[in-house]
Amino acid sequence: MAMLFIAGQWVEPAEGGTRDVINPFDGSVITTVAEASPADAEAAVQAARTAFDEGEWSSWSPGKRGELLLRMADLLQRDRAEIARLETLDTGKTLVESGIDVDDVTAVFRYYGELADKDPTRVVDAGSESVHSRVVYEPVGVCALITPWNYPLLQASWKVAPALAAGNTMVIKPSEVTPLTTVKMVELLVEAGVPAGVVNLLLGSGPAAGAPMVESPLVDLVSFTGGLRTGQAIMKAAAGTVKKVALELGGKNPNIVFADADFEAAVDYALMAVFLHAGQVCSAGTRLIVQDELHDDFVAAVVERAKRIKLGNGLDEGTESGPLVSEEHRAKVESYVELGLQEGARLLTGGNRPDDPELQNGFFYLPTVFDDCRRDMRLVQEETFGPIMTVERFRTEDEAIALGNDTDYGLAGAVWTGDTERGERVAAKLRHGTVWINDFGPYLPQAEWGGFKRSGIGRELGHDGLAEYREAKHIYRNLAPAPQRWFGG
Ligand code: NAD
Repeated sequence: MAMLFIAGQWVEPAEGGTRDVINPFDGSVITTVAEASPADAEAAVQAARTAFDEGEWSSWSPGKRGELLLRMADLLQRDRAEIARLETLDTGKTLVESGIDVDDVTAVFRYYGELADKDPTRVVDAGSESVHSRVVYEPVGVCALITPWNYPLLQASWKVAPALAAGNTMVIKPSEVTPLTTVKMVELLVEAGVPAGVVNLLLGSGPAAGAPMVESPLVDLVSFTGGLRTGQAIMKAAAGTVKKVALELGGKNPNIVFADADFEAAVDYALMAVFLHAGQVCSAGTRLIVQDELHDDFVAAVVERAKRIKLGNGLDEGTESGPLVSEEHRAKVESYVELGLQEGARLLTGGNRPDDPELQNGFFYLPTVFDDCRRDMRLVQEETFGPIMTVERFRTEDEAIALGNDTDYGLAGAVWTGDTERGERVAAKLRHGTVWINDFGPYLPQAEWGGFKRSGIGRELGHDGLAEYREAKHIYRNLAPAPQRWFGG
């Protein structure tokens, strides 16, 4: 049984709690893992605090920390097949996707491994010959890192790698729904040589394991990826101790297609944007916004291909999309389909569970397309986190931009056009943290990722993703101290 990792030891939870981890493909129990209580959270936070304040970690040079991350990258590649299999069992996504996740995670550890010793110290011109002024960057301290179920390993790596590069200690809490690859990640970090207490792992629910970390006065920073409501609760809870808060929340991401776009490529990406991982992607392009004259042909092509998406076991070759992560989550997706019908959206395909007998024990849902959608519908405005595409139309460039920005979120969006200048104009006006022109989905470890508006606070990846885990300190040295006689004396 996977246990908790506290102060360099794998330990039983204080109250002996356990939780079954479910395979979403068939509802079977993959394994049983430990379930933390608030007492375990307290112990994990204390271990991270002690390691930060008193441990050998604080004396490690940035270069040595960087080498640890580079060793970790090698270990991830060594165990690539095993990790990918675990991720597929746990999340239902295809093995190909899980393999890509491991490669992306490896790239993130390499990127921050190489950045760790690039000294950002800045000498400041104090305007005086007799002053030496500089800004140095130090770790924030103890970090609580809380992650969601859809990209468990990937989301954890975006936090763990920069937090370690900057010299912090941490407690990681993966989603209780999909904890397995995070357990593996901690095992590999131990193998890579991370000192005891620097990385601690809690497995368990938000209220029992997550909330006590957020409230703890011993924690200096909370970095959270997950849903909007949880993010709001975390921000409120963190206010009591005024800790730093970084939030990566949801999205309702527009995919805008102009009539002059490359038809085949735009159709292909429109499908991938929303149906990859059954739509359980924060940056999923669920809002297709298509120009009037292209609408009928484009939607017909999308629907025809959506009907042919092969659902199945993520471990099987040929499977194109897996199940939703849980029964509970499927019920949420189904309620949005009901809502869409009530709001007057026109169902073109899907809107049901598949009838394939082999899929009946899993949490499958058919790729679903709704036409005649309006911007004021809840189906269009709220994150469904399922395989549901809504289609809206526009006539002019201004209308397209207005629709693309008509959301409380601001995570990502795309514009498809054959006109380079128009692509740049629209990209400049979209209020989203990432904008793709004639593409959908790619991100780079060296480019910041995060949300405008209610999609979050702060950035992951890139230099800013490291800056989140650093405190700036100004050191001002007077080279010629002399009395100022401010008070006459
Ligand atoms: P969630 O908010 O339900 O849970 C996320 C994590 O928070 C879990 O580990 C959970 O146990 C924990 N948690 C729950 N309540 C808590 C509390 N009160 N205090 C502390 N921790 C608590 O999210 P989810 O359903 O696991 O993930 C899906 C959501 O994540 C979607 O909204 C998606 O858009 C978002 N997401 C965003 C990004 C991004 O980069 N912006 C990436 C992936 C997922």
